[in-house]
Amino acid sequence: MSLLLEGVGASPGRALGPVRHISWEIPSIPHTSIATAEVDREIERFHRARAEALSRLVELQHETTELLGGFEGKVFESQAWMIEDPDLVAGTEAYIRENLLSAERAFEMQLLEQRVQMMESVHAMVMDRLADLRDVRGNVLSCLLGHPAPGLEMSDDEEPSIVVAHDIAPSVAVRMRPDRVLGMITAAGTRGSHSVLIARSLGIPAVVDVGPQLARIADGCELLVDGKSGRLIVDPTPAEIESHNRALAQLQVRRKILAELAAKPTETVDGVHTVVQANLDQPFEIDEAIRLGAEGVGLLRTEFLVIGHREIPSEEEQFDAYRSVVEAFPGREVTIRTFDIGGDKYPQFMSMKQEDNPYLGWRAIRVCLDEPELFQNQLRAAVRAADHGNVRLLVPLVTSADELIRTREHLESTYGALGKEPGSGGVPVGLMVETPAAVETLDLLAPYVDFVSLGTNDLTQYVLAADRGNPKVAELYDPLHPALIRLYARVVEACEHHHLDLSVCGELSADPIGVAVLLGLGYRKFSVSLSSLAEIRELIRHLSVSDLVALCAGNARCESGEDVRGIVQEYLDRTGALKVGGTVLEG
Ligand code: PEP
Ligand code: MG
Repeated sequence: MSLLLEGVGASPGRALGPVRHISWEIPSIPHTSIATAEVDREIERFHRARAEALSRLVELQHETTELLGGFEGKVFESQAWMIEDPDLVAGTEAYIRENLLSAERAFEMQLLEQRVQMMESVHAMVMDRLADLRDVRGNVLSCLLGHPAPGLEMSDDEEPSIVVAHDIAPSVAVRMRPDRVLGMITAAGTRGSHSVLIARSLGIPAVVDVGPQLARIADGCELLVDGKSGRLIVDPTPAEIESHNRALAQLQVRRKILAELAAKPTETVDGVHTVVQANLDQPFEIDEAIRLGAEGVGLLRTEFLVIGHREIPSEEEQFDAYRSVVEAFPGREVTIRTFDIGGDKYPQFMSMKQEDNPYLGWRAIRVCLDEPELFQNQLRAAVRAADHGNVRLLVPLVTSADELIRTREHLESTYGALGKEPGSGGVPVGLMVETPAAVETLDLLAPYVDFVSLGTNDLTQYVLAADRGNPKVAELYDPLHPALIRLYARVVEACEHHHLDLSVCGELSADPIGVAVLLGLGYRKFSVSLSSLAEIRELIRHLSVSDLVALCAGNARCESGEDVRGIVQEYLDRTGALKVGGTVLEG
């Protein structure tokens, strides 16, 4: 009988093949004390090992850049920063000197401390960096112990298999050969880890966070992998294999349809032109966004440059990242959002005190305005990237005109510093409407901005007083609550009145029912996360704006989000709009 396991779908695609467990861990280092006279020798051993580990990383970065590109290569640059981190060096030296520990044990203890610190942050991006820390551990310890570098040997005559491990380090992932590795499955790990980034670049389906049961699957067992849903079937039955083969064939057809659609405009059945852009969390998502037909980038979240980093990102690093996105979308808008840190996202280079209400605290534009070095680096990088394409700057969590005025002042001094005429750079500045204050005072904010982007994720939590990450109040957190729908309508009205370009970048624009409502309210531009982008483009092409306008007007007095959903769902079922391209969209 087959066994079903579920993890988190991390790299799309399907695979069927035998399991091959791999392990690259260096076992825990025993507690070894040294004599005082040996301290200097151990410290020197530690520094020699660091130097060797760093040179391995330089090589790995070079190889990865050749194989997959510069962005993927940077994975190993960020590991090099970890090894060069002054806290890590000083902490390890202190363990050797003060606790008389061997270099191996001292390094291990220091890493443990950093790991605990990282685990305290619940933010996904920090968790994503845990695998890098483990990779750094393996790298430095193997140098100290005289072991070969962690890696994965794959010979030409090896049978293609599905690689299974507790977690996979980026240095191991980059050695996976797509002709030999059919899938990558891990018991731990996160969707945004660097190993997943590499698997996606290699086109290898991946499922992460499957849990401890994974260790019980024996080598050689047949495994069926669905990298999108995260479902795994161990020892599938003939019927399950047949259904997998059918799904695979459908996937190929669907990819073809999507490829054809990618080049077409997103127009409704009654000829209303809409724009569907991508929300990007990392530049490595560019290729996927283009493949799915994104018409620009409506939201480039830039926190990937700061979360888990121990130093303020340099202007140059940011410029490279922004330019790579801008150049990938020639002539299209690329909307760079200024750092939205605070809330639940803390960089390690800033001392951000624990706050009682972080979402109501020092976050986003409030942090940027208080930290000029951080902000100005980002503005300079964005303005320079604008020389290469159509860049827009988006300011999150705005509650007052003063914040926009001060942002503009920073921008003016950036133009000055870059030798541009004041205001001439012409990088359009936009405001994220994601607080009730911004909706209420849009007329006062309008003079300072060129465009508006509706952030339904935060607006929902601030309007309904329901924390977006708290499962206890998840039922209250409803972006289709009548209070929100009324606010969405007012934003359209205000933007029309003030001639401001308007788009939606919150998750509501990835929800088919949400998009139908937003179209009915007058929204024409959507920025959508990649997992829903193609479906939303396809859906819009099956919707009628005039029907939806009538539907919204006729149901303006709905008492709950649930009622709204029911009415729109019924309409979508009746018109068949949800069943497009031979597959039913996830509503
Ligand atoms: C939003 O709040 O709707 C939004 C898109 O921003 P984030 O989810 O990054 O806070
Ligand atoms: Mg937000």
